[in-house]
Amino acid sequence: MTRFAFDIHATDGKARTGTIRMMRGDIRTPAFMPVGTAATVKAMKMEDVRASGADIILGNTYHLMLRPGAERVARLGGLHKFGGWDRPILTDSGGYQVMSLSDLRKITEEGVTFASHLDGSRHLLSPERSMEIQRLLGSDIVMCFDECPRADQPRDVIAKSMEMSMRWAKRSRDAFDAGGEHAERSALFGIQQGALDEGLRKASADALIDVGFDGYAIGGLAVGEGQEAMFATLDFAPQQLPADRPRYLMGVGKPDDLVGAVERGVDMFDCVLPTRSGRNGQAFTWHGPLNMRNARHAEDTGPLDERCPCPTCTKHTRAYLHHLHKSGEMLGAMLLTEHNLWFYQQLMAGMRAAISEGHFAAFTTDFRRDYFAR
Ligand SMILES: [Zn+2]
Repeated sequence: MTRFAFDIHATDGKARTGTIRMMRGDIRTPAFMPVGTAATVKAMKMEDVRASGADIILGNTYHLMLRPGAERVARLGGLHKFGGWDRPILTDSGGYQVMSLSDLRKITEEGVTFASHLDGSRHLLSPERSMEIQRLLGSDIVMCFDECPRADQPRDVIAKSMEMSMRWAKRSRDAFDAGGEHAERSALFGIQQGALDEGLRKASADALIDVGFDGYAIGGLAVGEGQEAMFATLDFAPQQLPADRPRYLMGVGKPDDLVGAVERGVDMFDCVLPTRSGRNGQAFTWHGPLNMRNARHAEDTGPLDERCPCPTCTKHTRAYLHHLHKSGEMLGAMLLTEHNLWFYQQLMAGMRAAISEGHFAAFTTDFRRDYFAR
C-alpha cells in the first residue's frame, strides 16, 4: 500500500492535473475539499458528500479538540469511524482558528495558550500538541502548526511570525515522525507564510524544503487582502514550492478564485463558501451566484442550473427553493448545500478534463464569459 504519492498526469501552462494516492483512497487534482468542521459537512449526509464527487474532506482541529475532544474521538475509533467517512481526511492544525475564534490568546515560542470560545476553558496548542491531536483524530493529511498573522502588518512583524512558523514546522515534523504507526500511513504538509512579500515567501519555501514535506500549503492568503493581491502573490508563490509535490491553497475560495489559482499552479483547495452559502440562500451556478431569497425566483419553474446534474437541479424548481429559503425550512439549506457542493466538484472536474486535453485557456475564457455574464 502506498502511504503517499503524487502523479502528475498532464500540465497546461502552469496548471496541472494528477492523482494523490493514499491508503484510504485516491484524490484527483485539482481537488476541492468540503469543510467538515465538527465531524460533519453541515446539512449533508456523508454518502451525499461522496456522491457530489468529493475524494477528501477537511476536519478542524480547533473545533474537534474543544468538542467532543480529540481523546474522546480516539476512544470512539477515530474521526473516520465517528463521522462515517472512510476516505482521506485532511485536518488543519488549529493555528488559524485559534487566532480568529478564541479569546485571551498568548503567543510564545512554545505555542499558543487560549480560552475556548465555547466555555472559556484554558488550552495550549503547540506544534507537539497539534500533531498529537491530529494523530488522535486519525487524520490522513496532517498540517503543520503555524501562526497566520494579518497581512496588513509591517514587514518585520510578518518576517518574525514567518520565522517562528518555520521553527514550528520543524517541531511539527519531529513530533509527526515520532507518531509511530500513524506516521507510517499518513502524510504531513508544510505551510508557506510571508503574506504578500516575494522575498519572505521564498525564505519560507526554502526553510520548508529544507525540512522536507509530502506536500506544501500556501497559507496566509484569503484573509482579506482581495483577489487582485492574492493572484499577484500566486504569480510567484506556487513556483517557489517543489513542482513534484501537491500545492494546497488554504481557505480558498469563490469559483473564480479557484480557476485563477489553478491557472497559477495550485492543486488543492478548501473553503466553507459552498456549504455556508447554501445555508444562507446563495447558490453558485455556471452563470454566477444567485440569491434564492430574491422575489424574482418566486414563480420560476426552471431548475437552479440547467447544466447541473445534481439531485436538487433534477428534482426541484427555483420557485420551490425560493419558498423553502423564505420559510426558513431546513430542507432549503440541505438542497442548496448539495447543489453548491456538486457545482464546485463539477468545476474541478471540468478543469481536470480541460488540463488533460490541453485546452485549459479556452475553459477559463468560457467560464469567465458565462460566470460574469450578468
Ligand atoms: Zn445542481
